[in-house]
Amino acid sequence: MLKLGIIGQPLTHSLSPVLHATLMHLLKLDGEYRKYELKPAELAGAIPAFAKDGIRGLNVTIPHKVTVMSLMDWLSPEAELAGAVNTIVFEQDGAHKKGYNTDITGFMRGLPAAILDRLPESNVLVLGAGGSARAVITGLIQAGCAAITLAVRDPNKAVALLSHAEVIKQAYRQNTQMATFSLHSLPSLEGFNGIINTTPLGMWPDVAQSPLTPIQLETLPAGSFVYDLIYRPTETRLLQDAAALGYHTINGLDMLLYQGISAFELWQAAPVPDEVIAPVRQQLLNAVNTTAS
Ligand code: NAP
Repeated sequence: MLKLGIIGQPLTHSLSPVLHATLMHLLKLDGEYRKYELKPAELAGAIPAFAKDGIRGLNVTIPHKVTVMSLMDWLSPEAELAGAVNTIVFEQDGAHKKGYNTDITGFMRGLPAAILDRLPESNVLVLGAGGSARAVITGLIQAGCAAITLAVRDPNKAVALLSHAEVIKQAYRQNTQMATFSLHSLPSLEGFNGIINTTPLGMWPDVAQSPLTPIQLETLPAGSFVYDLIYRPTETRLLQDAAALGYHTINGLDMLLYQGISAFELWQAAPVPDEVIAPVRQQLLNAVNTTAS
């Protein structure tokens, strides 16, 4: 039996069980995906116990994504660069623990081709400086994005993220131009081709919030995209305002979907067939709509 699960705290609202249970069902696999709520102090003891218990793989979420790295026997280049692990694969009956980061792959696989293809000529404004901003910046640099501007509220985080970007640029031999602004004193958006929100502003239940006002959004050139990593609700205040102004809008559902698909592919060491992806996405959407209303 395929034994999978997720470790984190809290896990009440995690959609990973829905995603992976649907995948196993559609692929007719005999398996289980369980939630394991772990306190930080329990992590080091729990990982060897999972390995002994025949678990094939785990997703890792807040607050363990960074601390779990030191418990791995091997880290993927993406996990090293992102400084975080969100997927563990147990190999050789648990004797070998491999740490991966599928948030970067998930972000990239969820990006529409029209946006991906234009990145080498794009200046993208990234709002926020947390864990997902790191994954987004890593993916954008990997894809050859011409310029990234970070808008953050804490200047110390901007400094840390800029030095992170330099490491990524060297690793992928890219020359992405980097700049930073305070989130609270953003200039006009006329120099950008797209915006990616990685802050939780607008996330359910605080759905009236938005990191940008419609007046600020209006200064973004026509044809630009506005991508909100939030998936609950599927259309945040930011995306509603952007859609009303005619911009191409994208929510975080596909990033969520593809980080999960990518993790499952690592556990199974095989690609997930295309035909099951749409029904899994639909199940996720149903689950999101059930919990965000
Ligand atoms: P995080 O590590 O806590 O980072 C959040 C960032 O937003 C931080 O830089 C924080 O600023 C900033 N921020 C928080 N509240 C703010 C406010 N009121 N005003 C201005 N800035 C604020 O969180 P994360 O893991 O990156 O997740 C962020 C969002 O992305 C969440 O909504 C999450 O659901 C979503 N997400 C989606 C996916 C997906 O698969 N679609 C994956 C990951 C995350 P400071 O640095 O100053 O604290």
